[in-house]
Order: sequence, then structure tokens, then C-alpha cells
Amino acid sequence: MDTTKKLLLIGNSNPSQVGDGFFIRRALPNRRYPNISPFLMLDHAEPTYFEPSEKPKGVDAHPHRGFETVTIVYDGALEHRDSAGNYGKLFAGDVQWMTAASGIVHEEKHEKEFSEKGGTLEMIQLWVNLPAKDKMSPPKYQDIRSADIPTVKTPDGKGKVRVIAGNFGDIKGAADTFTPVTILDVHLQEGGETNLHLEENTNTIIYILDGAARFNEEENAQTGTAAFFHAKGTDIHIKAEKDTKLLVLNGEPINEPVASYGPFVMNTQEEIVAAIHDFNAGKMGGIG
Ligand code: MN
Repeated sequence: MDTTKKLLLIGNSNPSQVGDGFFIRRALPNRRYPNISPFLMLDHAEPTYFEPSEKPKGVDAHPHRGFETVTIVYDGALEHRDSAGNYGKLFAGDVQWMTAASGIVHEEKHEKEFSEKGGTLEMIQLWVNLPAKDKMSPPKYQDIRSADIPTVKTPDGKGKVRVIAGNFGDIKGAADTFTPVTILDVHLQEGGETNLHLEENTNTIIYILDGAARFNEEENAQTGTAAFFHAKGTDIHIKAEKDTKLLVLNGEPINEPVASYGPFVMNTQEEIVAAIHDFNAGKMGGIG
């Protein structure tokens, strides 16, 4: 029996800008393959050099409700503060898993010293949906330091996998998730190969940050593209055609209606109207 998860398509990402500090490619959503639950959005801030700046660049205070943001720093440093008084810094290799849930107002900036010195920044921000029953739960953070992310060598020794969430073989990831989600930060040397064994009836997207990879010995995906796989089947074979950095996203779909408007992702239009009202009424707080 063929257990391969078949490749559906390789999607391009659109260049865009978030605030004054992030020059991104938006790989998700993709209009040709919108059904990627629980994943809502994937932005890759490609390696960008920033001149020294006294005032840290980034995104000013804005709200979120109804989902989680996952920020993975590859190079440079970020600084974060929110309406609940939380404050933190993220350096290369660190992951911030923020459960916005009932609502949070936060700002996302370059870290102060990094900003003053100037340097190259690369990061990914992923939005992961929450099931209806958890959308109005209290906000929380998982600040995951690089050293706390389990790292596994691939069997051929030509690569490594950082298990951010879910599992890779017997190794369990660092983050707690509300629904089954696997996130793997994979780095393969040229010629390196690995196999993914995933659950049946799950959505899988593999985004290439840099390099080129061949999937199931078929099609080749390049830097800045995202490969979408069929829900059926369990196995994906990856071979790196050159030194390659890629991000594996796999999750059980949340089969509930989605109503979204900017930074709010709920189940109904009424809940969106309520979110806008609550934000305007200051119920998600503010940054003083
Ligand atoms: Mn945000």
C-alpha cells in the first residue's frame, strides 16, 4: 500500500511589509489551497540588513483575539511587550508561542541593542487557529529558549531537526498545543535526506526558507515557496538539493467555521463585531 502523502502544489509567496521592521514573504494563506486549518498565516521576514537605528523598528501596538501567534527567530533579536505587562526578548533560535485567545494588545519590535548596532534580521511568524471552546480562554505565553528545543540528528547524519511542537520520531516538541500540531525547524546539508511520518487526515505544508528540496522523489521546491500535501497518507520523503532550511507544519484540521477580520479570528461575524467593540472599549487593554 502506498502510504505517501502526495504533493498537491507548490505555492509562491507574496512580498509585503509589516510595520517598518519586517520585510516579509506571505506564504499562507494561499488562494489556490485555502483549506490549511489549523494554520492561518505564515510570514517569513527574509534575511534583511537594518542600519543602526536609535528608535527600534517594528510594529506598534495592535490587538489579537481567537488564535495563537508563533514567532521563530533565525537571526537578529526581537523585543515584545503587551497590555498585561508582559515583556520579553527573543534571540536567534528562540520561539515565542503566544496564545492571544480572549485578547491581547502588543507591540513587536527589534531588540534595543540590536537596533542600535544594526544587523541582519530573519524570523517567521505563524498564526495557528484555536478551537471555538478555547478562543475566549485567558491569554498566555510559552517563551521557549533555543536550548530548550529538542534537537535531533537525521539518520543519515546530514541534517538536524529542531522539534518545536508535536514530535519527530520518539522526540517530543517543546511547545504545548491546544490541538495536535507539529512544527519542525529542519536544516539539511546538500544531499541530506529524511522521512517524515505524520498522521493521516492532517494538513501539511513545508516552507523553504532557503535552498531547494525534492519531495517524494518528485517535484523540487525552491527558496520562498511552500509545498502543500494531501491529507491522505502518512509519509513524506525530503531530499535537499543544496544546503536547505525548511519549516514543516502539520496539524489536525479544526472543522469549525472561520470568521476573520484583520487581527481577529473567530467563528461567526457576531463574534468579530464583539471583538472590534471590545478592543475599541479598551477591554483588551493597552500599552502605557
Ligand atoms: Mn502581533
